Amino acid sequence: MKRIIILFVSMLYISCSDNSDGIPSDEPEQPDQPISEIYQLPLVVHVLHDGENIGEGTNISDERIQRQIEILNEDFRRKSGTRGFNDHPDGGDTEIEFILPKQDPEGNATTGILRKQLIIDDIPDTVPNFEYEKYAFFSYWNSEDYINVWVVSYPDDLTNIVLGKATGPDSDLGGDDLFEKPLPGGAEGIIINWAHFGESNIHGKHGLGRTLTHEMGHYLGLLHTWGGGDCETNDFCDDTPAVDEVVNADEPYIGCGGELVLVTNYMNYSSDAIMNIFTKDQIGRMRYILQNSARRNSLLSSKGLLDPE
Ligand SMILES: [Zn+2]
Repeated sequence: MKRIIILFVSMLYISCSDNSDGIPSDEPEQPDQPISEIYQLPLVVHVLHDGENIGEGTNISDERIQRQIEILNEDFRRKSGTRGFNDHPDGGDTEIEFILPKQDPEGNATTGILRKQLIIDDIPDTVPNFEYEKYAFFSYWNSEDYINVWVVSYPDDLTNIVLGKATGPDSDLGGDDLFEKPLPGGAEGIIINWAHFGESNIHGKHGLGRTLTHEMGHYLGLLHTWGGGDCETNDFCDDTPAVDEVVNADEPYIGCGGELVLVTNYMNYSSDAIMNIFTKDQIGRMRYILQNSARRNSLLSSKGLLDPE
């Protein structure tokens, strides 16, 4: 069966790169200079389960959630000794990290993990018929201060087919029109099928927690490596080899102009086991979004990063 990974990605037309290629410099290398500022972002997890006790079935354990956050950080920080490490010349450390929030929107201490049983019939007709809005009806924190991640219980027969999805940011970058956007003033965030959240023993390619890494890439402005499906604009990142069709492959794969595709890129549909790279241009694009986009830039000064008073 064909995998439909629902990612409403959005293609940005952003110029993925904010580097200064081609500009010669007479300045000597300054190895002691910090590369850039580490950005820390608060991520709240809403577990919308089927009514099981904590730690059973779709009501996944705190430990599994905490391990997922670790994996996300291993990947985004390219940590040595983990699956997230690579030594590819185009790869890099995003210098973006994620934590479970320390305080909630009211200023109370929190674990950053919320649990609600999802009962479809409880959703009133006044809630827009849009998946993010329906989940937000059960549990949602403002997106200026928190990245909302809903762990949801899709039916078992969707395992390995529907992994997750994310809304994209507003920006002036290329491909902005390709992202799924929230309703005006509406809920936004990341949805992950519980089977693919954290490490699990499911059969198939997506049991190592990389679905959140991929969707977080979208939430911070990355397109799939195939972008909008054309060789010219592609994903607006010069250092990801252009490809004009979905990359759902773990083996060497030929893209536009006969160039080998980087199958290990997190923004493919490749297996969790082989993914390990964000390129420098992808990193530049995510950091640009964090510096410039509404409801992304504000995360950097979120109260969720601070202990409650
Ligand atoms: Zn995607």
